[in-house]
Amino acid sequence: MEDIKNTYDTSSLSDMPPEEFRKYGYQLIDWITEYLKDAEKYPVLSNINPGDVKNKIPLNPPNKPEQFNDVLSDIDKIIMPGMTHWNHPNFMAYFNSTASAPGILAELLSSAFNINGMLWKSSPASTELEQATLDWFRQMLSLPDDFWGIIYDTASVSSMHAIAAARENVNIQTRKKGLSGRKEIPRLKLYCSEHAHSSIDKGALTLGIGLEGIRKIPVDKDFKMITKKLGEAINEDRKKGWLPFCVVATVGTTSTTSIDPVPEIAEICKREKIWLHVDAAHAGVTAILPEMKNILDGVENADSLVVNPHKWMFIPIDLSVLYTKHQDILKRAFSLVAEYLKTSHDSEVENYMDYGIQLGRRFRSLKLWFVIRYFGVEGIQNILREHLRLGKLFAGWIDEHPKFERMAPTPFSTTCFRANPGNMDEKKLDALNEKLMNKINESGKLFVTHTKLNDKFVIRLVVSGIRTKEEHVINAWDLIQQTYSEIK
Ligand code: PLP
Repeated sequence: MEDIKNTYDTSSLSDMPPEEFRKYGYQLIDWITEYLKDAEKYPVLSNINPGDVKNKIPLNPPNKPEQFNDVLSDIDKIIMPGMTHWNHPNFMAYFNSTASAPGILAELLSSAFNINGMLWKSSPASTELEQATLDWFRQMLSLPDDFWGIIYDTASVSSMHAIAAARENVNIQTRKKGLSGRKEIPRLKLYCSEHAHSSIDKGALTLGIGLEGIRKIPVDKDFKMITKKLGEAINEDRKKGWLPFCVVATVGTTSTTSIDPVPEIAEICKREKIWLHVDAAHAGVTAILPEMKNILDGVENADSLVVNPHKWMFIPIDLSVLYTKHQDILKRAFSLVAEYLKTSHDSEVENYMDYGIQLGRRFRSLKLWFVIRYFGVEGIQNILREHLRLGKLFAGWIDEHPKFERMAPTPFSTTCFRANPGNMDEKKLDALNEKLMNKINESGKLFVTHTKLNDKFVIRLVVSGIRTKEEHVINAWDLIQQTYSEIK
């Protein structure tokens, strides 16, 4: 027999020793504590040039162990200059995602456990905590109890799974036969408004629906889907031989946070027997507030809903929740149990791997558990309520200023606005506002992003960060006005 004894030094074959882990662990927690406490002292938007970070990193990996202290000190030297700080109170761009301290601790614990929650058996606690916390979250959103939930990483992935379930729902045997080369089945059509998030298109593309299979329904002056146009589009497409299979309504569109008329859309979907998916990725969490509950009106008649606690519930990215009334259909679309994954518990438990493309699953529900318990529902409500108030405050300042104008309603805390001195054509106004936004962002004191509404360049300011207080919104408005007066 071959000699299989080792010939090398075995003292270096183990993990970091516990005492070293403890030492660096405390050091890192101290570093994070200071970072979060002083997030404001950093420029919110990194102003480095492309390649600056990479150029500081050796081309080849180290052959010999390095001092962990050196690794930690490189965070300040190499990483920090290249950071755009999503935790910064003046990060008012895109839709923010801020990490609360309990969420960060849960993330740490999750990687320490390092479980794979593919099966109940592979981590019973992960599966059951996911079930329990998603039921809490369902109650917080006042959703009916026939909504079953699952955690994915992002809303893009949640919506893709909802569209896959919608495709499974039309019973054209996609699972068995696929879509291509089948003359006997009609082509599938999905509907969403012109303002739906691009993740819907990407989901449809992934699932073989094709760009021609996505129909964008026009919006009204408030950027909400025009329901009548939806009904007409479905009729027209049916006549042409298409098979309408899915409508996506948005509660809180990305550009303006407009709310599609879900109750009316749900009626059409019911009549036409079409799956209704509601994308409330950003704004959905505000339904936790009794006074905002009505934003999810009609969702009780939808087939699925996505809400992202990682966007506006202070849970570090990533954690997106998909609820559906048709757990069975989602399972039919995805379940495929290889022999080595079969367990003796399968008939009594839920194996989350059955409900999606990924096998491996992180222990994300710890984050929901920690955050909901630490703040309590009331604590989360209070912060959301304050954000909504601050958003309205900012929108009011825009309305009052003679040289600024609001470009869309502000149903949540996102304001779409532009500077308008009153003597410029649209092209010049676009250039002025782009310059204004770039100058603001170059200052490092505030980060805002833009969109286009009716072809006009519009700046968006979003209040949703856990560290954003009234003083930050006041400072943001001062900076915007001051920058405008410098460039006009
Ligand atoms: N849906 C809406 C309405 C969004 O605004 C966004 C992102 O901002 C998404 C979906 C995609 O979110 P995620 O990054 O979680 O995929």
